[in-house]
Amino acid sequence: MIAELSGALSALRGSFDLAKLAIDVRDGNKLNEARLAMNERLIDLTSSALALQEKQAALVQEKQALEAKIADLERQVGELEAWDRDLEQYERTQTQGGAIAYVDKSTRESASGPVYLCANCVADRKKTYLQPDVNRYYLECSIHGRIRSEVPDWSAQDAEDDSDDFQGSRGGHW
Ligand SMILES: [Zn+2]
Repeated sequence: MIAELSGALSALRGSFDLAKLAIDVRDGNKLNEARLAMNERLIDLTSSALALQEKQAALVQEKQALEAKIADLERQVGELEAWDRDLEQYERTQTQGGAIAYVDKSTRESASGPVYLCANCVADRKKTYLQPDVNRYYLECSIHGRIRSEVPDWSAQDAEDDSDDFQGSRGGHW
């Protein structure tokens, strides 16, 4: 494209020289010829310049699209890095009930119980806390449903039933 433009420019220059020569020798016919040639070269030059301008506009657009793509990729890389950093806090584990989940390492021995993430959600790079049911027998993901949590401890269940009864009877007195 640039080559075409410089070709058109040098052709125009050639026709200038022709015109100059015609003026020098005061030849009206040659001058007319040169004028025509100059006009033709000017048209060539204009169309080359226009084509170049179009090409340049397309290149600018392409550059902008590429820049946007790079920014988008950089954002995605940033998100992935943040996700990896975040996930370092967790490790894959098996619940007592045999289900696969991710546990927050710092909460393994926590008095309030370990904090779990849904393994299927982690595979989809989503962070979903598993919510225990009342008895902690199940952990529930809002997307993937329930997994078995702890092996039911029936003695604890009995104790809970007793306390329910106790609350129930006390409720009766109110
Ligand atoms: Zn899930």
